[in-house]
Amino acid sequence: MKVNVDPDACMGCGVCETIVPEVFLIGDEGYAVTLLVPAPEQYRDLIQQAVDECPEEAISAEE
Ligand code: SF4
Repeated sequence: MKVNVDPDACMGCGVCETIVPEVFLIGDEGYAVTLLVPAPEQYRDLIQQAVDECPEEAISAEE
């Protein structure tokens, strides 16, 4: 699946990285970046959890 983080919306809180560190990393610029493009299906549920729990609604995921 395609996962995207809006760098203008992300505040670098690290919630997504905590939920699924295989997919998200807080980069040197201070916002989350995606490590696996596209993200493997095995992480679907955790990615959805990250989408739901991101306080800035900065993560989007689509098939
Ligand atoms: S949870 Fe949202 S705001 Fe927090 S680091 Fe991840 S993308 Fe950024």
